[in-house]
Amino acid sequence: MTAIILATHNDHKVEEINALMEGVPVHFISLKEKGYFDDILETGTTFDENAQIKATTIGLRFGQITLADDSGLEVDAMNGAPGVFSARYAGEGATPDQLCQKLLMEMRDVPYKLRTARFRCVMALYDPKTQSCHLVEGTVEGRISSSMRGHHGFGYDPVFELIETGETLAEMQAHVKNSISHRFRAVELIKVHLLEHPFY
Ligand code: IMP
Repeated sequence: MTAIILATHNDHKVEEINALMEGVPVHFISLKEKGYFDDILETGTTFDENAQIKATTIGLRFGQITLADDSGLEVDAMNGAPGVFSARYAGEGATPDQLCQKLLMEMRDVPYKLRTARFRCVMALYDPKTQSCHLVEGTVEGRISSSMRGHHGFGYDPVFELIETGETLAEMQAHVKNSISHRFRAVELIKVHLLEHPFY
């Protein structure tokens, strides 16, 4: 079984990805298990750049295959913002409630038809043999709602309505959201890549 480092300090993400990778003979290990506790700087201006920076920084440091992700919300009426600044959109340490309220305020005069948005997740798999990254991305299309609805999930989930059903992601049960999310779709593509290009 090949060990792949997941370049995140979020242990929950490591558990989640190991569960999603069932059937692929790889095992994801956390930065904690590698004894790495430094911040990984996200200095890029796109999701692609940030995912590659994170995967390459850790992959080079340990000489091991490394996966990193970067994700966020793109709102069309705001020219793709908050994008890579999604976590910091309402300032460092802002609560999910503050993020959603700020977005609703900024979008208050935007008509329904122009409220389109998407979550995007880019994953970069760094291979020390080729010293390059394989990139995949997953998206989920939606619209910014006119008010916060639902109590599940995190971040912008209460203000993101799915195009197909009009439900916000926060109104959906976790397992349902997780089966259609941008992250899930990116993981599926990584899975295909690992099966087609076995490192084991
Ligand atoms: P990260 O790159 O996965 O840490 O995501 C950056 C930020 O994007 C998060 O802090 C959230 O604000 C937002 N975000 C990413 N994915 C989701 C999601 O599935 N639901 C709601 N917000 C999200």
